[in-house]
Amino acid sequence: MQQSKVVQLPLSPLKSKVLVTQPYVPSLDKYMHYVEKAFDAKWLTNDGPLLKELTDRLKDYLGVKYLLLVSNGTAALQLAYKIKDLSNKTVISTPFTFPATTTALEWQNANIQLSDINKNSWNLDPKVVEKHLTTTKVDAIVPVNIFGMPCDMEAFDKIGSKHNIPIIYDSAQSMLSKFKGKSVLQYGDIHCMSFHATKLFHTVEGGAITFNSKDDYERAKRLINFGIGENGVVEEAGINAKMSELHAAMGLCILDDLPMLIENREKSLTRYHSQLASAVTLQCSNYDSYTPPMYMP
Ligand SMILES: *Cc1c(COP(=O)(O)O)cnc(C)c1O
Repeated sequence: MQQSKVVQLPLSPLKSKVLVTQPYVPSLDKYMHYVEKAFDAKWLTNDGPLLKELTDRLKDYLGVKYLLLVSNGTAALQLAYKIKDLSNKTVISTPFTFPATTTALEWQNANIQLSDINKNSWNLDPKVVEKHLTTTKVDAIVPVNIFGMPCDMEAFDKIGSKHNIPIIYDSAQSMLSKFKGKSVLQYGDIHCMSFHATKLFHTVEGGAITFNSKDDYERAKRLINFGIGENGVVEEAGINAKMSELHAAMGLCILDDLPMLIENREKSLTRYHSQLASAVTLQCSNYDSYTPPMYMP
């Protein structure tokens, strides 16, 4: 075996830092306007008016029926795994993702099986997954639309119905992505989104889950509030994964600015692509998809 050598890289000669990413901050005045509302009402969390406003606006914007705002994207994943009862179950996911996709599965005590990614989209490859399914009993699939690039969602929907298993998407980076002209949120069973400060749309810390099933949505709504049901009785052991009014306020500000943010990043990406396309390998797909301008992988 060859001994690897540690190479001391020279320190960057640059005076100013080149940031890979930097959170977007909206107008402070606008943010304070919302904070004042919360202060006046003395309603800081627990299904408050700002949370309701952001929920309604996002549902409208994304064209979804069942959307639940939560404290962060990792909690969104944990809740989705809990709702689909993946404890001690076999789950296929991708190795090429942010750690939370699979560490949250581990917290749920799932038996994780990593399947190879497609060399173009860098996402879970349905053909490889199908092969795996011929020899192994699998209870759920967790694909990730990495860097916002949708995977072959139609193929995964087919696999889901054929084998009667849920498809839970880590859509932390793909809230705005499209597959064959439709929002990615129209595919699969559950989507988990992250509104962390480094994401294009954010609430400082935060996230959302969208559901196909009304029952799943209602159960998740209880679970993020300690498992307390409508009548005030704890119906099952839940957790605290609620989004506060101050976090929702940030989301309301940034949602207004989102078209401008997208336009600006679109311009940067066009420039990167035109100047780098011949020198680097870009993520791509052989199906019709839209990847919002967030990253330049
Ligand atoms: C950001 C991200 C997460 C984690 O979301 P948090 O809101 O930071 O908990 C999970 N998966 C992917 C793919 C992400 O990009």
